[in-house]
Amino acid sequence: MRSNKIRARSVAGHGTSVPGGQATRTYSGAEWRQQYRLLGERDRLRDQRDELRVAATSGPGYEPLHVTNDEVATQAATIKDRLAAIDKALDRIDSGDYGVCLVCGSEIADQRLKALPTAEVCRKCAA
Ligand SMILES: [Zn+2]
Repeated sequence: MRSNKIRARSVAGHGTSVPGGQATRTYSGAEWRQQYRLLGERDRLRDQRDELRVAATSGPGYEPLHVTNDEVATQAATIKDRLAAIDKALDRIDSGDYGVCLVCGSEIADQRLKALPTAEVCRKCAA
């Protein structure tokens, strides 16, 4: 006897493909769009992070940099935080919890999610 999990997985194989990951369930159009945005943002941030790494380590072929290590460290920390927030949002899309306020449990408005795809709380709770 096959488990439901295996059956679900074989169905997912014929369904929507998700950039950068395996589809574990069927996503709604809105979820898919937000996921796509988040993955794009994650790629951009990873590029920025890589550029910072290059900037932090001067070597042959690189222009000398006029930034202090503190500035690089601050930028790197910001990028790290944003990447963490994006990964959390992607996890919530996967588990079906995306767009639900972590504080009061109500739905986060589409407008807010469009402006801030990594939003974890609704506007009321964020205020
Ligand atoms: Zn709330």
